[in-house]
Amino acid sequence: MAQEVLYRKWRPRRFADVVGQEPVSTTLRHAVAAGTPAHAYLFTGPRGTGKTSTGRILAKAVNCTSPVEGEPCGMCASCVTYDEGRSLDLIELDAASNRGIDEIRDLRESAGYSPTAGRYKVYLIDEVHMLTDAAFNALLKTLEEPPPHVIFVLATTEPYKIPATILSRCQRFDLRLISVATIARLLETIGAGEGFEVAAGGYELVARQATGSARDAVNLLDQLVAYNGTNLSLDDVRAGLGLVIDDRAADLARAAIGRDLKAGLSLLAAARDDGVEVRSFIKSVVDVLRSVLLLKAGAGDQLPLSDAQRDDLESLSVTASVGDIAAALEALGEIDFAGDAYDS
Ligand SMILES: [Zn+2]
Repeated sequence: MAQEVLYRKWRPRRFADVVGQEPVSTTLRHAVAAGTPAHAYLFTGPRGTGKTSTGRILAKAVNCTSPVEGEPCGMCASCVTYDEGRSLDLIELDAASNRGIDEIRDLRESAGYSPTAGRYKVYLIDEVHMLTDAAFNALLKTLEEPPPHVIFVLATTEPYKIPATILSRCQRFDLRLISVATIARLLETIGAGEGFEVAAGGYELVARQATGSARDAVNLLDQLVAYNGTNLSLDDVRAGLGLVIDDRAADLARAAIGRDLKAGLSLLAAARDDGVEVRSFIKSVVDVLRSVLLLKAGAGDQLPLSDAQRDDLESLSVTASVGDIAAALEALGEIDFAGDAYDS
């Protein structure tokens, strides 16, 4: 994404700033405080959950000259170079674009040299699952006999693509999707710091749309503010996020469950008249029905819903049977898109 101004500005600088990953942060902090970091870490988790941020903070913390309970002090000469993104002892490699054996050979060679300034050289390899087999083999040799001053941080969204030989050499941390409430709090903190005026419930809507990714959430907020200015009404947020059809999707889901063909068709027609692309509208209705099923099964805790929507769908989940919902899903699957002017 081209525009990540807000995200970069508010990037976490200490373990405590990484939202939603407290168990990981605490363990790493203790390792730093004890002076016993591992030589290789694997950070897994969906995009935007803090893998590279955590890796950078770890690099900063192990090289800080006066860490406080495992947190980087943020003031020593070393910390300053990390905050300014110019430390020579943090080497970042994006395996998506540097996936071959040559890059890993270069890395192995440079790992043999002592750190420039601090105690540790930290190699942060993002999207590590993209490495070729030959590159993984070369990396494995280094992981088997790591120089004492080197820490590898491997980050990936797809851990099942990492060879077992590599996995067994790493201390693994699984970063979780971040809850809507946690992301909303982060956005609120950023908004307060930036002087944004956002209507009540607005941050939660943005958080919900970001589906567990702090980075996506902050970037969405950035875009909303860039487009609307720093004063955001709920309508601004809804329109900006493309959520304006949300309530209608719930209405159509209700009509489909109640087998109310007339109401369903008129909702569809109204949406189409407003220029809503029918296929994506139906998809959002299907999402609503799936949410109702999950709520019915008592498994809806992680659903990215606002309080009002949760109440709405929960009442629907009480009245509708699983059979009703399944029939509604099936009926939606049979909708003929032919003749939809907006569907190419
Ligand atoms: Zn420091």
